[in-house]
Amino acid sequence: PKQEDNVVAKKKKKLSLVDENRIMVFVRVRPIAKKEAGSRCCVRIVNHCEVYLTEFAAQDDYLRLKRVRGRHFTFDACFSDSATQQEVYSTSTSELVESVLQGKNGTVFCYGATGAGKTYTMLGTVESPGVMVLAIKDLFSKIRTRSCDGNHVVHLSYLEVYNETVRDLISPGRPLVLREDKQGIVAAGLTQYRAYSTDEVMALLQQGNRNRTTEPTRANETSSRSHAVLQVMVEYRVRDAAMNIVHRVGKLSLIDLAGSERALATDQRTLRSLEGANINRSLLALSSCINALVEGKKHIPYRNSKLTQLLKDSLGGTCNTVMIANISPSNLSFGETQNTLHWADRAKEIRKKASDANEDLLPVPETEIDQVKLVLELQKENR
Ligand code: ADP
Ligand code: MG
Repeated sequence: PKQEDNVVAKKKKKLSLVDENRIMVFVRVRPIAKKEAGSRCCVRIVNHCEVYLTEFAAQDDYLRLKRVRGRHFTFDACFSDSATQQEVYSTSTSELVESVLQGKNGTVFCYGATGAGKTYTMLGTVESPGVMVLAIKDLFSKIRTRSCDGNHVVHLSYLEVYNETVRDLISPGRPLVLREDKQGIVAAGLTQYRAYSTDEVMALLQQGNRNRTTEPTRANETSSRSHAVLQVMVEYRVRDAAMNIVHRVGKLSLIDLAGSERALATDQRTLRSLEGANINRSLLALSSCINALVEGKKHIPYRNSKLTQLLKDSLGGTCNTVMIANISPSNLSFGETQNTLHWADRAKEIRKKASDANEDLLPVPETEIDQVKLVLELQKENR
């Protein structure tokens, strides 16, 4: 009975972002889309932290489907297709906003295949603003309630990483060069937009999103290979009792990642094309950095891509990291959904192992080819 009590106690212990070495992992299922109408649903939210994925196969010549197998996945929280933007924000990100006000850095990224709901979750619409907008709104309201104890200054920058090129999304122009200075890695000439209220932010970000690079083959679609990064810098200056100036800076990075489908290609042919020009270096480098961080490695390979260089001061150390995995409920996206859930599950697993032993799980990839090998290895492991 004592052991049972222990299990219950463990289950009850509220997980917190403030824990060391923790990547909080969330899953969000989007509603079924028009073009998926009539397809089978293969995802079921079992309870607030559990999701069940069903695999179907053709049963007969009429392509009727039968259930072959299924699997449970557990995360910090699972959001169903009826979860509101506010629910997703409050559960996943509001704690980070609080810690940014304390002068800490934090990162939230959305991960998943193209069409899975990443941009909806991060940016949202005017009627249902997403995490980026709700975070800024919350930030301003928190600042307002504390305005008696000093002055906060909020700056926003919004950029994209596309094919290892960094571009300003607020004032688009020539590619930006990354430079290392005293504060860390900065994109030279990147617009730092001084924000005074929430009202202007949605329009600014929507315009920014229209500035994202579009792939020639997907004329009307925002590129599935572009990462959009919103950085919110909060500066706080006040004189303490001894008249010393207290200066605090916190930075929140909110990232709408490129579609994961090509980085997680399952068949050998697609994988081979990854070794060529098609590899999304930033996406793979991000997962290697996260692997290295949660495994407690000394060397974190930030230098491997533009995205990870930009996030050097916002991943690891005392920073908090949140991953939101976006999935479609439809059986038509089964493969992508399975990959996304496996990847998200792994992010969670490594964390556990990191806390009880300093095991070496996988080598830290140093080159692109090593990264491709890593993908292969992870896929083998996941099978
Ligand atoms: P991604 O950015 O991952 O490619 P999108 O965010 O553009 O995907 O989502 C694809 C479509 O699904 C969009 O039309 C979007 O408005 C819709 N959508 C995604 N998630 C939701 C949701 N939770 N509720 C309502 N509509 C959603
Ligand atoms: Mg998108």
